[in-house]
Amino acid sequence: MDLSRFDMFYIDHEVLDSPLIKRIKSILPVEKTKVVSKIPFSDSKGDLSKSEFDRSKKNIFFTKFKGSFFKRCPGARPGLSCCNYFVLNLGLQCDMNCSYCYLQSFINTPLMTVYTNIDEAIEELENLKLIHEKDNFRIGTGEVIDSLSLDDLTLYSRQLIDFFKTVPNWKLELKTKSSKVDHFLNLGPAKNVIASWSVNPQYIIESEEHGTASLKNRLLAAKKCLDSGFSLSFHIDPMIWHPEWKKNYSQLVNEITQVFSPSDVLVLSVGALRFQPEQKAIMRERFGFKSWVTRAEVFPSSDGKLRYDKKLRLEMFDYIVKEFKDKNPLWNIFFCMETPETWLKSTFKSLPKSVHGLKELFDHKIIKNTENRLSLRN
Ligand code: SF4
Repeated sequence: MDLSRFDMFYIDHEVLDSPLIKRIKSILPVEKTKVVSKIPFSDSKGDLSKSEFDRSKKNIFFTKFKGSFFKRCPGARPGLSCCNYFVLNLGLQCDMNCSYCYLQSFINTPLMTVYTNIDEAIEELENLKLIHEKDNFRIGTGEVIDSLSLDDLTLYSRQLIDFFKTVPNWKLELKTKSSKVDHFLNLGPAKNVIASWSVNPQYIIESEEHGTASLKNRLLAAKKCLDSGFSLSFHIDPMIWHPEWKKNYSQLVNEITQVFSPSDVLVLSVGALRFQPEQKAIMRERFGFKSWVTRAEVFPSSDGKLRYDKKLRLEMFDYIVKEFKDKNPLWNIFFCMETPETWLKSTFKSLPKSVHGLKELFDHKIIKNTENRLSLRN
């Protein structure tokens, strides 16, 4: 893996004996590696400035996570129709740099953190397995860190895949904008492991998704995963308006459908640009007005986030659904992180729980029971 893009690697002295540090210590460049007894840059308080946020992407802190790894997806809030899955956070911050990234209004730690105690995360999963082995759990690792962009260093996917192969009813979603998959391909087949890509037209990747893999490389990586027996999902999210959006999103649909058929893709979702109002200032500071995101005309929606107006969102969703359906009517697309009203006005004309094929993703009864159990344990 290319480590030259990082400024420093800080290792918490308490985790020097962890299996991860023992394995990678010889790979980390000596002149950039430091063992520390307190969090570096801990004098930064409150919201991060532009330079502090930029710095946080270039400095990794390896430490132990001291809470419960297993949490409910933050999208599961009143006012949103979300797929309601659980998240396992194995770190915090991302080494890529998308203009719209919600971490800009979420993170106030001054460096990227990678948790070294994955063994404890797997132990939590083992305990849940004792009670829920037969339930249909869906668990993602890409909520506050990309699932795979550092994975060729940590190899965490390999440990997770090994575990998930023992619980075929559960699904693991590895969500990424990288193309790093080669190091786990030999663990396939594992149909309950979903390699999952956020995709956008190459034009938007170049203008908004800095440091991410090209569309071509993401699709190539997805094909390798499919051929090795993993499941796939694509999230065309966030769709970003720009003058040539129709042409560019049609081209994206072409590129996906030339390689994949509906039966190859377990979940295909779309979402449009959205962000917290307080994110606007740091996005403008970091990306100026060259970005289609910082220049976007957006309005407050029912969950407090800023979004394109409803009419434009529906036009974009209907357009992309039609593009897929024109290629093959069997393509099924759902809208994650959208308001119930958008679902009702879209071509689906129904809420996600009643859309064919999505019932399993929205099993609120299981989620509620598990949440109760977790809150009792914490
Ligand atoms: S890849 Fe995801 S987590 Fe990383 S910067 Fe982009 S949006 Fe944020």
